[in-house]
Amino acid sequence: MHEIKESFDVKLAEDEKYYVPDEKYRRTSWIGDYQRRYDEFLADPDAFWNDIAEELDWVRHWDRVLEWNYPYAKWFVNARLNITSNCLDRHVASDRRNKAALIWRGEDGTERVYTYQKLLTEVIHFANGLKKVGVSKGDRVCIYMPMVPEQAIAMLACARIGAVHSVVFAGFGETALNMRITDAQAKIVITADISIRRGKAIPLITIVKEAILNAPSVEHLVILRRRREPPVEMRPDFELDFYELMRNGGADCPPEAMDAEDPLFMLYTSGSTGTPKGVVHTCGGYMVGTYYTSKYVFDLKENDIYWCTADPGWITGHSYIVYGPLIVGATVFISEMTLDYPDPGIWWRLIEEQRINIFYTAPTAIRTFMKLGEAWPEKYDLSSLRIIGSVGEPLNPEAFEWYYHVIGKDRCPIVDTWWQTETGMQMITTMVGEPMRPGFVGKGIPGVVADVVDKDGASVPLGSGGFLVIRTPWPAMFRTIYNNDERYRQYWETIPGVYTAGDLAVKGTDGYIMVIGRSDDIIIISGHNIGTAEVESALVSHQAVAEAAAIGKPDPLKGNSIKAFVILRVGNAPSEKLKKDLMYHVRMTIGPIAVPQEIAFVEKLPKTRSGKIMRRVLKAQEMGVDPGDISTLEE
Ligand code: ATP
Ligand code: MG
Repeated sequence: MHEIKESFDVKLAEDEKYYVPDEKYRRTSWIGDYQRRYDEFLADPDAFWNDIAEELDWVRHWDRVLEWNYPYAKWFVNARLNITSNCLDRHVASDRRNKAALIWRGEDGTERVYTYQKLLTEVIHFANGLKKVGVSKGDRVCIYMPMVPEQAIAMLACARIGAVHSVVFAGFGETALNMRITDAQAKIVITADISIRRGKAIPLITIVKEAILNAPSVEHLVILRRRREPPVEMRPDFELDFYELMRNGGADCPPEAMDAEDPLFMLYTSGSTGTPKGVVHTCGGYMVGTYYTSKYVFDLKENDIYWCTADPGWITGHSYIVYGPLIVGATVFISEMTLDYPDPGIWWRLIEEQRINIFYTAPTAIRTFMKLGEAWPEKYDLSSLRIIGSVGEPLNPEAFEWYYHVIGKDRCPIVDTWWQTETGMQMITTMVGEPMRPGFVGKGIPGVVADVVDKDGASVPLGSGGFLVIRTPWPAMFRTIYNNDERYRQYWETIPGVYTAGDLAVKGTDGYIMVIGRSDDIIIISGHNIGTAEVESALVSHQAVAEAAAIGKPDPLKGNSIKAFVILRVGNAPSEKLKKDLMYHVRMTIGPIAVPQEIAFVEKLPKTRSGKIMRRVLKAQEMGVDPGDISTLEE
């Protein structure tokens, strides 16, 4: 329970528990001594970012590292660059030319490998194809594709010629897609005839055709035809075949020299707390931020095979499948596979087969595996793993433990990374080599000044709670919200002088940060602020519970009472006794004030298509009111 206004001591379960990684991690990591790096950054932030940017290729050097005109930042002022030169050409000109850039595995078992040379060639041809149909610098291109290599090729081809991509996750329906196409005034939509999920073909093209009915900005559809027999028919002149466009492209496409502050892409937030926001990222700072974090947070080494299970339709996929790892020159594994098809062992089998070294996934997946039991991962050899990561929601202590023991075999450091669509890059984590604390993400990475503050922006004392903020600009920060700069300013003006993330957090006595929920979701009971994540973590720490969501319901006496929705682990049955046990368990873990008044056993929780719990939907349902924008709700 954490007061937001004044701070006070925080009682946390397992307060003093740490896992200390083997000493070799720190000795061999890129980051080395975290504190020393952090101090170097604090001593001279511009020099810190300058040195990282110097590792990359630029067409024109910057005049200044940062021009900060609160709340507007310009990074690498007057520099010119193309991010694809750093993702591709730089490696092709080096020993990495024949190295695998992307290894893709389709659901039907097909595998495709793109070397850096091959990827560059395809990107160039497709970029030229886009030019031929009239796409030029600054035009918006909507990419609505399944998880196939062509999705990354389309993104990189846009970046090559300076077109601004807006990737829309292929799980969205026509309304969400139409909104994103019209909002961006997209000139071209790149799509595929079908996407394949759990052995079934889903006709994407039908959705696209619906979505563009009221979208007059669209001049062409580019269609990747995956189904050979019979191939979808194309409307002449309007619809173009992906590979035909590529074949007609031509082999020479010099990278467009972009200003560091030119937009690179726009992308919508997940919509967990409200209407999705169209976040705009720019070329220079985003390149430096994703390069730096990919290299240092994942500690990517030359021979690693890296797998991030996100879809490029989310920021995680943009920054940590496509741009960041390719800038580093890594080998990226991409799989179209759902986590439980053909069976719940598939991901672990892929790790065994591909000898994956670095694995990055989300708490929703980890909790699903917890529910299904340890037998699945135990069938496979996971000894190639070196570092495992998490992103998207709080990784509850229980899920941390499971991930650490069952997947990481007590050996792999976990990088639980806190960041947002808006931040573009990872911001808070426990850097490889540092002691890990279950439930806590960690500290600001070198380059990031993260803090927990009260309503007036004053740092809360160690051991208390408040609002999670970032105090100084960082290179990959978003520059605006598309068509809504007012909304952009709000992030910086809610608490004057700092970036307010919209999350609540606790600063441990060691300075480690624990994210306890969304500011919107805070439950105030008898004057105490209770984070949803605290109650949920307490529930998940019970051996019968796989996943939980907590919401506040108005209560005449206490202001609010808590209702919890609980998914049980396989082998447990709902009962009144179990409810009582769970209430008792929360009482013992957090205290009487956090005990749910009601508990409901459910099979599913409402989630965004990226797997985040949408508590506002549960709450609206409970109160019998309109849930608001549910365009990103999973079916
Ligand atoms: P919207 O802003 O539309 O409500 P969203 O915030 O879910 O959607 P994203 O940008 O995808 O959209 O998610 C960022 C949020 O995810 C963070 O603000 C935080 O609440 C949560 N998050 C991400 N990583 C972590 C993490 N490691 N630990 C705890 N929370 C995390
Ligand atoms: Mg958000």
